[in-house]
Amino acid sequence: MITVTRPYFPERKNFDRYVDAIFQSRWLTNHGPLEQELTRRLETYLGVKHLLLVSNGTLALQVAYRALGINNVVGQREPAEVITTPFTFIATASSLKWEGMQPVFADIDPATLCLDPAQVEAAITPRTRAIVPVHVFGNACDVEAIDALGEEHDLKVIYDGAHAFGATYRGNSLLSYGDASTLSFHATKLFHSIEGGAIIFKRKEDLERARKMINFGITGPECIEELGINAKMNEFQAAMGLCVLDEIEGNLESRALVWHAYAQAFQGNVQLQARQPGVSLNYAYFPIILESESVLLEVMQRLEREGYQPRRYFCPSLESLAFLGRPAADLQDADFQQPEIVHSRDIASRILCLPLFSGLQVSEILAAVRVIVDRHQKAA
Ligand SMILES: *Cc1c(COP(=O)(O)O)cnc(C)c1O
Repeated sequence: MITVTRPYFPERKNFDRYVDAIFQSRWLTNHGPLEQELTRRLETYLGVKHLLLVSNGTLALQVAYRALGINNVVGQREPAEVITTPFTFIATASSLKWEGMQPVFADIDPATLCLDPAQVEAAITPRTRAIVPVHVFGNACDVEAIDALGEEHDLKVIYDGAHAFGATYRGNSLLSYGDASTLSFHATKLFHSIEGGAIIFKRKEDLERARKMINFGITGPECIEELGINAKMNEFQAAMGLCVLDEIEGNLESRALVWHAYAQAFQGNVQLQARQPGVSLNYAYFPIILESESVLLEVMQRLEREGYQPRRYFCPSLESLAFLGRPAADLQDADFQQPEIVHSRDIASRILCLPLFSGLQVSEILAAVRVIVDRHQKAA
């Protein structure tokens, strides 16, 4: 079965060399030498400053919210509201709810699939504290417009960049916008450390605060400075990250071949995500948007018969999940209204991510391409 993604396995002997170093240093976790080396190497590779490694991409979001203080609302009974997109992986929104904040979903632009700044602006209330946009499938959000909204309304902006590893926008890292950006290094992602993640802060003082937070708020042998959590990356995670980073160019080249083969075959045939002008390609995902959900289900069935297992990223659209919504009691006395979501629901019902990973051969996707193009021509 050719699945939507496959974890990248680096050269075994390279990994062994890093593991030997761990056995020699006898340092397993807590800001070890490999974690420090990976931090430096990622800052250089990504072209960013103030990068903090953490144990996964969900904690990266949670710690970023805490370090920027958006969960702190003094003298307010209602939870802080944070505007985010319903078209994303669950963790973007569930991490907000988990931290006691209320995600408020604004609709996406149906072409780029990223948050529509006009919809964000319309969703701002006196309780809004932050905006959490997602560079979905490695596309750039309208970062200028969103950062400007943040400034104008005094809101923090935290980009969930889980899909945007290595992406540049107008020549700079896409991860350098907002007050912070987060990354996920989960095994299924383009770059991984088995589990892992990172936060890239705009300001050094936010990085320093987060660094304390990820180690329980402990700052010395008998000093616990503030409320913290355990979100540290360990040395085995860092070792895997270093080996995967050593081989990143080959990984990207292999993905690029497949990505461009799909793009060429579907050009003018199937709706594709419109890329924001100025954003680079990182070949992380290949989504296609079909005519309807029934066409999508039929295509999936045919692909499965041919030995493919694509995935419906991202379905359902998150505003439909009751546990992320406002408690009923709150709804009665608050003037809160979840904005109407049209595009995210529509796109979520008919978008499909095709197999894309390093080592996948162009010859291995031809049958899938044929199924999709044939179905499209029949529908047209
Ligand atoms: C993968 C992902 C996350 C969560 O990352 P983990 O490392 O799995 O916790 C968050 N947001 C988005 C958009 C993701 O794709």
